[in-house]
Amino acid sequence: KTDLYIVPTPIGNLKDITLRAIEVLKSVDFILAEDTRTTGRLLKHLEIQRPLQSYHIFNEHKTVERLVDRMKAGEQIALVSDAGTPAISDPGFLLVRAAREADLLVNCLPGPTAFVPALVNSALPNDRFVFEGFLPHKKGRKTRIENLMEETRTMIFYESPHRLLKTLTQFQEAFGEDRLACVSRELTKIYEENIRGTLPELVAYYTENTIKGEIVITVAGKN
Ligand code: SAM
Repeated sequence: KTDLYIVPTPIGNLKDITLRAIEVLKSVDFILAEDTRTTGRLLKHLEIQRPLQSYHIFNEHKTVERLVDRMKAGEQIALVSDAGTPAISDPGFLLVRAAREADLLVNCLPGPTAFVPALVNSALPNDRFVFEGFLPHKKGRKTRIENLMEETRTMIFYESPHRLLKTLTQFQEAFGEDRLACVSRELTKIYEENIRGTLPELVAYYTENTIKGEIVITVAGKN
């Protein structure tokens, strides 16, 4: 019997919820959500009525122990985040680790996550790749980028739209003018786009075009 389900939810298109995700969300004792309002809307859309409890980065450490106790007592839990796969640049890692350490059964369902479609849509080599998640905003940011200068695998970054141009410019400085990259925006949504080019081309494009929405940057590795 599974104690903790990690349940991916759509990153835009609501049709991307899986049949198994629906089945699990209907069956558990309660659902842990990053934002109970966001998840509440999804559950309403799916016509699922299960108790919701908040689980976010600010209370992660404190609640983990209590949740492990409840699972040990026999309760089944599903963890969801606002979008995509929990624990991937989202809260969840601490709970998964604590559950495993307590010999509880953890089961992560496969499902939506932004970096896989971004990587495949980029048309950059995908036989080997590194997922870098979010870069630090200030401290350690430059070092993190510089440490990737010799990386030969395709690199994937999560980024917010208002930092996109700064990041592309820093990438150009570190990785050079010829490096290919792709900016994937609003994946699975109506205005999805995947813009490919060299880093200088992308810098020029996003200097001209201010954008909104959610973004994944994929950068080719060093040749
Ligand atoms: N757990 C999520 C996953 O599995 O992809 C990631 C959560 S993280 C807090 C949010 C970031 O994921 C966004 O800033 C963006 O970089 C990326 N992202 C999420 N949805 C996206 C989408 N529809 N299109 C492009 N990027 C997306």
